[in-house]
Parts: sequence; C-alpha cells; structure tokens
Amino acid sequence: MNLIENIRKALEHNSTVGTPERYCPNCWGRQEYGGHLFETIHKEKIDLSNLNEKKGWIQEYAAKHLSSIKLQKSGDNYVCQKCTLQLRIPQSGTKPTKTEF
Ligand SMILES: [Zn+2]
Repeated sequence: MNLIENIRKALEHNSTVGTPERYCPNCWGRQEYGGHLFETIHKEKIDLSNLNEKKGWIQEYAAKHLSSIKLQKSGDNYVCQKCTLQLRIPQSGTKPTKTEF
C-alpha cells in the first residue's frame, strides 16, 4: 500500500497512518514519523474530500521529511538508510518481512 492509500485508510478509520509500502517500519513507528505526518495532515486540514488535490503536497512532504527512512534496494534486500534495518525483497504479492539472523 502506498503512502496516499495509507493516509486514505487512516482518515477513513480515524486512526494513525500505518507504515506505507517501501518505508522503514522500524523508523516509522519508533521515531514517530507516522505520528508527525498525521499531525501535519490535520493541521493542513487534509481529509477524504480533498486528499486527491493534496496528493502533490503530501508527496512533497514525504520527499522532504520521509526520504531518509525510505527503503533502498540493495541486492536481495531493502535497506533503511537511517537505522540500517534490512528487509528481504518480497516475492510478488507478499509483504516485506524482517530478515532473520
Ligand atoms: Zn529504519
């Protein structure tokens, strides 16, 4: 699920934003990136009725504030630049899972 879809779901359920696809779940939760994003969404008065119009704004926010926790492809894994968490690149149709050591 991408970032915009995650936000849509969060708005529908009036909950916080879960980790979007290709972002580090570790940093997203622990560093409260998701919490800050959701606060900002409320401040900007983004809701289900204007989410489509605000897509560009959200993407800009993500590029500015969330790019450091975006997972980078490295061999067979995705790697978080921030905390160096490695996630195995999933087989098609499955979610990334934590690499077991
Ligand atoms: Zn991370």
